Amino acid sequence: MAKELKVEEKLKHLYELQKVDSKITEIEILKGELPMEVRDLEDSIVAMEQRIEKQKGQLEDFQGQISMYNANISEAEGLIKRYEKQLDEVKNNREYDALTKELELARLDIQLAEKRIRDTTGKLESKEETVSANEAKLVSKREDLELKKKELEEIISKTEAEEEKLGKKRMRSQKKIDTKLYDRYERIRKQYKNGLAIVHVERESCGGCFNSIPPQTQLEITLRQRIISCEHCGRILVDDNIQTSLEKLKAKEEA
Ligand SMILES: [Zn+2]
Repeated sequence: MAKELKVEEKLKHLYELQKVDSKITEIEILKGELPMEVRDLEDSIVAMEQRIEKQKGQLEDFQGQISMYNANISEAEGLIKRYEKQLDEVKNNREYDALTKELELARLDIQLAEKRIRDTTGKLESKEETVSANEAKLVSKREDLELKKKELEEIISKTEAEEEKLGKKRMRSQKKIDTKLYDRYERIRKQYKNGLAIVHVERESCGGCFNSIPPQTQLEITLRQRIISCEHCGRILVDDNIQTSLEKLKAKEEA
């Protein structure tokens, strides 16, 4: 800008730029959280899928163990049949005692295997419950993800045009402000999460940090002869009427 602008005009341009930036920030906030939520959900779905996969592996292990115990039972039953048959043909006490001992052992084996089957079945059933609860959670997470993705797509398609428009508007606004002042504006703006560098005087206080402004300073702000920063937060202060003045200035520019 070759021509030196009056302070009042500088303030109006700054104020206009701030309005554009605030709208851009609003869109960023709106979009900013959703992609993160979508990513988080996708991660937690993958983790849940892996957990279920692992738990299903444990189910198979339990089933394998139960089959093995059943095989042990069949084997012991086969032995028992054989020993009982042999008992009918024993020739002496020694043989009889030996067979009775074997029979006893085989029956014990069966009891042990049956106990293990009961225990493992208990574990299997509780694991099955866990798996089905996790599968239900997974379904609802997937539904949630679909919703969030759709929401994000809608926002993106809705805001794309507006963002482009705001981007152009911002460039036009920036051109009206000299580099030094623009840098100052950007420096203040980056300090604050809400990106506010230009604030109104609200109830005799700074609209940014809410600290009160001395009456003399308030008066100076309305005069618009000097760029005044809040002594507490450094934000540039403008009076309430700047919006109306800005509209008048715009009408003049467009005429
Ligand atoms: Zn302040």
